[in-house]
Amino acid sequence: MTAPMKFTPETVSAVPESSHAEMVNEVKDRFRYATTRYIKNLMEQSDAVRKQFAPSFYELMDFGKEQPFEEGKDNSGIYGLERIYEDRAVITPYFGCASYCRYCFKKTRTLAGDNKVMAEENIDAALEYIRADSRITTALITGGDPLAKPALVYKILEQLSAIPHITKIRIGSRHILFQPDRITSELAERIASYNRVDPEKPLASKNISVGVSINHADELQPEVIRAVQQFTKRGVTVRGQMVLMKGINDNVATLKNLLDHFLAVGIVPYYLFHCMDVVGTYHMRTSVQRGLDILAQLAEFSGTYSVPYVYVTPVGKHRVAPGMQLDYEEIDGKRYIRRKSPYKAERFLAFSGKKSLPELHEVDEDGYIVSRYLDGNDTYLPY
Ligand code: SF4
Repeated sequence: MTAPMKFTPETVSAVPESSHAEMVNEVKDRFRYATTRYIKNLMEQSDAVRKQFAPSFYELMDFGKEQPFEEGKDNSGIYGLERIYEDRAVITPYFGCASYCRYCFKKTRTLAGDNKVMAEENIDAALEYIRADSRITTALITGGDPLAKPALVYKILEQLSAIPHITKIRIGSRHILFQPDRITSELAERIASYNRVDPEKPLASKNISVGVSINHADELQPEVIRAVQQFTKRGVTVRGQMVLMKGINDNVATLKNLLDHFLAVGIVPYYLFHCMDVVGTYHMRTSVQRGLDILAQLAEFSGTYSVPYVYVTPVGKHRVAPGMQLDYEEIDGKRYIRRKSPYKAERFLAFSGKKSLPELHEVDEDGYIVSRYLDGNDTYLPY
């Protein structure tokens, strides 16, 4: 039987099971599928890990944004440099990863793009841009997976750390999980060497930290914990981020267990992200409210479980917290969350270099951006 090329959330149940395998092959043609041996083994042992990395025929569903951020032709005009917040610059030296997460919010770049590495002149231009704007105090080196190419990271770190107004440098990487044996003492030592605390002028200190996405306690195997320790024992903070995903971690017991693991091994719990409306993620997205309900129950155990919960829009993160009343709006049969952002339109347009606000965003009478974010739902599709 020939697999239907297009189907929607409304017609998904009509897709015959006999077509699924053929459709998964189509998914692999469209989006990269790669895992390290380490992840492959974990996928065999854990359903929560398998669901994050195994391609699913649902990825062909007519759903989701192709390009949530205008990376590449970025607001700065420099390949690999992005700026959404006034005080932060994001450098993406490399869009490739050693394993590919199906929910990746940069999916059309990482799983489907050309994975072009920032050229020397792009890096120089990015650093010059940061050097010239003292409002930028934080630099995030992210990916793709920057630690897959440590030489590139060292090169950027060397110059970034010499910029006086850059006081916080964050490296976002899942390499700790994908190839824990690559987090060697040498690599950790080199990264830690950029941590410079100045007791006389604390605000002139340089802090370097590593952020890693860990979505389920099954990912925290002994090798991964040892890789985390390579950093923590050298004074580099490791923050754990989580993406809330249907059938993977969207319940109180699973998230509590994950946070207990974080706290036990010295990973600082950081953001809980709502899974973004990226192409091919329909089956993984819960409602934003579900995350709020889980966090409300977790807060009853201890304040340490009260992690910041955010959803991400093209103008930046929106923080939501238990007890908050979400304001819904239906557009073309889809449910959106309408919310006043903490960002003033005039400032956003000025520092981002964009000419207009993204689609479905508007300005309120006080000049703040009002965003609309596509919500998920709590209907479970088997995968
Ligand atoms: S490691 Fe990060 S950048 Fe790479 S595929 Fe996963 S989520 Fe995307």
